[in-house]
Amino acid sequence: MPKTERMKKEKLIVFRKLLDRQRGEISSQIQHLGDEALNKTLRESSGNLSSHTLHMADLATDNYDRDFSLSLVGNEQKVLNRIDEALKRIEDKTYGYCIKCGKKLPEKRLKAVPYAELCIKHQEEEESVNK
Ligand SMILES: [Zn+2]
Repeated sequence: MPKTERMKKEKLIVFRKLLDRQRGEISSQIQHLGDEALNKTLRESSGNLSSHTLHMADLATDNYDRDFSLSLVGNEQKVLNRIDEALKRIEDKTYGYCIKCGKKLPEKRLKAVPYAELCIKHQEEEESVNK
């Protein structure tokens, strides 16, 4: 981590606001998606006898929808974790730098993705590993 250049306090405050807002939005999305998935599960498990007439294809679609909602929740949860990490870095005043090489992240990128934690190079590396 380079000691010479640290993000200005005023800027950190701006990004903290951005992160806080995004955190709120994602939390309510997770809540919403979770409720939806739960409702579907309840509907299925309390299904009456007439549900036996359902085609298998319909059931499969329903399951797919639920899995899809759940995987969305998973993704959102990951973003939420990254936002929390970013907020921690704001507290530590290490925010705005690649966590791997300490390179300064372009402000444009931080404005688009305030929880960005890697420079482009390391981001690409990370993505190719996860593929
Ligand atoms: Zn890097």
